[in-house]
Amino acid sequence: MEVKIVKTEVPEWHRPSWDEYFLKLAMLASERATCPRMHCGCVLVLDRNILATGYNGSLPGLPHCYDEGCLMVNDHCVRTNHAEINAICQASRQGISLEGATAYVTNMPCTNCAKALVGAGIKKVVVFTNYHDTLAEMFFKEAGVELLRLPMPEREIHYDVKSFTSAIPWEKEQ
Ligand SMILES: [Zn+2]
Ligand SMILES: [Zn+2]
Repeated sequence: MEVKIVKTEVPEWHRPSWDEYFLKLAMLASERATCPRMHCGCVLVLDRNILATGYNGSLPGLPHCYDEGCLMVNDHCVRTNHAEINAICQASRQGISLEGATAYVTNMPCTNCAKALVGAGIKKVVVFTNYHDTLAEMFFKEAGVELLRLPMPEREIHYDVKSFTSAIPWEKEQ
């Protein structure tokens, strides 16, 4: 048996940090959003474990904005729950406590979502965007929730089936 160490050059892109990884997952979750006015994603994490995810979308089983149009009240679409609320709802349905967890969100939470995150026991919020019309920062500060602002992670997904696996992608037969 031959045993040896083979070193390989690190790829041009860097391996994401945990924060970048969870923010990228939040961006991926946002792709499921059902309202054209907002695409937002949220990942709730405790000790590097994902507890729940959410995106802004209609209530379960109800029509989507993309299909039926936005339901506008005072210039805001109210058809969907925001990503943070949906993530909290998902955890609730599964009986998962969010005490002490971190929320990774694509968008700076609105006032209501910020209050819900605080109420659910979230202790840290990580974002890469700002939003002018929110009291999130004030409530986080008063409630002792840490707010971490990071640069937006790059949006590429570096899955290269040829370089990193010996697998062959399955293709649907024509
Ligand atoms: Zn809408
Ligand atoms: Zn919100």
